[in-house]
Amino acid sequence: MSILIRDVRYLTKDGAKKGNIYIEENLISEFKANEADVVINGKDKLAIPGLVNLHTHSPMTLFRGYGDDMELHEWLEEKIWPLEKKLTKKLVYWGSKLAIAEMLLNGITTFNDMYFFMDGVAEAVEESGIRGFLGYGMIDLFDKEKREKEIKETRSFVKRAKRYERVVPTMTPHAIYTCSKELLEWARDFAREKGLLIHIHLSETRKEVYDFLKKGKRPVEYLDSFDFLDDDVIAAHVGWVTMNEMKILSKRGVSVAHCPVSNAKLASGVAPVPEMLKLGVNVGLGTDGAASNNSLDLFQEMKFCALIHKVYRWDPTLVNAREVFEMATVKGAKALRLNAGEIAEGKLADIVLLDEKSVGFQPLYDPISNLVYSKPRVSDVIVDGRLVVRDGKILTFDVGETLREVEKVTGEMVHR
Ligand SMILES: [Zn+2]
Repeated sequence: MSILIRDVRYLTKDGAKKGNIYIEENLISEFKANEADVVINGKDKLAIPGLVNLHTHSPMTLFRGYGDDMELHEWLEEKIWPLEKKLTKKLVYWGSKLAIAEMLLNGITTFNDMYFFMDGVAEAVEESGIRGFLGYGMIDLFDKEKREKEIKETRSFVKRAKRYERVVPTMTPHAIYTCSKELLEWARDFAREKGLLIHIHLSETRKEVYDFLKKGKRPVEYLDSFDFLDDDVIAAHVGWVTMNEMKILSKRGVSVAHCPVSNAKLASGVAPVPEMLKLGVNVGLGTDGAASNNSLDLFQEMKFCALIHKVYRWDPTLVNAREVFEMATVKGAKALRLNAGEIAEGKLADIVLLDEKSVGFQPLYDPISNLVYSKPRVSDVIVDGRLVVRDGKILTFDVGETLREVEKVTGEMVHR
């Protein structure tokens, strides 16, 4: 199967170019071919690499707008945790499907997920055509019996994930304040034995850091003290870290999933991203779950990311549009060890077409500037060499059915 995007403007590492993009199977093959099984007219389109959502909890669309403008712990205890107790695989499946619809329509071709009932997420990934890096969120609350259960569930999900073509299983201990050292050590060893990526929340709030300091160490230093940190680790948030901790992250090759909207909405703080970038830390962008964002839209996230660091430091030159665009594409892909995030020969064919002639996207002096600061309109999305969104419509599943089912199952969940 081959696809040709004819006569299109496309973004490369060296700037915008114009020509044909030829896709053979699931790879970008060349830029000269003129025929293919499927031909897309690229006139008035801008082709960009598919966006990578480096940290989310896709089924949490089920809780979108259910409890806003609250303190983090009050929000978790009164709103989120009681509903999470009612979750089933069916609820997770529909919540994740809604999330995937939103992500695809916003040009996201890969997401890095952590939650429960991950088979529900895996089925939604498989049916939709998106790429999913999925991990069962382990929480042992320092209890031995619970730890054994969590380990068993992770082992069996990693095995089951082999059934799915575009699902990559990951190791996801939730955080250092919900997981014992024994569980973290097991996660580290099992991940390295099986070659899995590790995805963990880290230093999200001041409270987490201060509670941990009582035990003598800052979170990053604690994880480094037992060789947990390496270039297979993706740490989400990383909002409250010292220069020394950032140097450790840089030295160990840890990737950071920066989630500026979620951090702002929960008033967690502003992560020191300018320092991380200066120290060479690989920083990608994540939306976090839809309950704390409340969108799964990396265009919004890019804009917010570029703005918040400027206003926070009174410096409009900080975290510029190009840096933010790299975070949402090539750096996210690098964190996931995915051969994607760029439009170049031999890369995976994860490509998004935007309408150049849309209101709010003209005039087009600088495509990256418009991408980050203006309002792009996604028209087509190709994932793994397959067309999954055409003219703003998802081709792989029935979005109307998803909306109806989500309405039904959330109604039952809230009233049960
Ligand atoms: Zn999270």
